[in-house]
Amino acid sequence: MPEPKEAILLIEDEPQMRRFLRVVLRGHGYQMFEAATGEEGLMQAALRNPELVLLDLGLPDLDGIEVARRLREWSDVPIIVVSAREQETDKIRALDEGADDYLIKPFGAGELLARIRVALRHRAMRRSGHKESFFMVDNLKIDFVKRQVFLDDEEVHLTPIEYKLICLLAGNAGKVLTHSQILKEVWGPNYIHQTQYLRVYMTQLRHKLEADPARPRFLINEPGVGYRFKAESGKTAS
Ligand code: CA
Repeated sequence: MPEPKEAILLIEDEPQMRRFLRVVLRGHGYQMFEAATGEEGLMQAALRNPELVLLDLGLPDLDGIEVARRLREWSDVPIIVVSAREQETDKIRALDEGADDYLIKPFGAGELLARIRVALRHRAMRRSGHKESFFMVDNLKIDFVKRQVFLDDEEVHLTPIEYKLICLLAGNAGKVLTHSQILKEVWGPNYIHQTQYLRVYMTQLRHKLEADPARPRFLINEPGVGYRFKAESGKTAS
């Protein structure tokens, strides 16, 4: 028997959705705990100490966003919201309350598993305090030590802000970052509403790094929410 993988806590009230996720996650070797209400989810999180939480927003007792907020008071466990709600404000609120990612129902098993792998990888890196010295995806390479960016081994000259931005996005590859999270990290807490800064710099970066800036491969727009740096074929090496 192979070792069971990480334990995932599912907080979801719909039995059908729970069944689907149980089949997918157990089928891929994850251990699973389940809770049908927000209160039970918070209790299970404290008792079981899972490596990841899948959280529905429409729960019978507490709002999922409230569950995320309360979890974040004491835990850095990755939270992936799985919700039928499509409103951008819900996505942004959940992410700003500390959720790591967001999937809109219905979603496929492949997409879910990819997001789980990304969230677990970021958690493992946070835990180990390990800093990568390189980031590579396709023909793009970032050398964090020399502070240089290469496309097909040709150095691309970036301004200090552009470099900060690409490092933040690549360092969170695969994970969505909200506009205000990016603005806060790159420009500072007084700039979280200056989304036009971000738009200007993202356009510049895409012109420097994307073969077709109108159809970006690396710097993916999450409409109304923020940006996600392409992850899956992204290999990191130290
Ligand atoms: Ca629900």
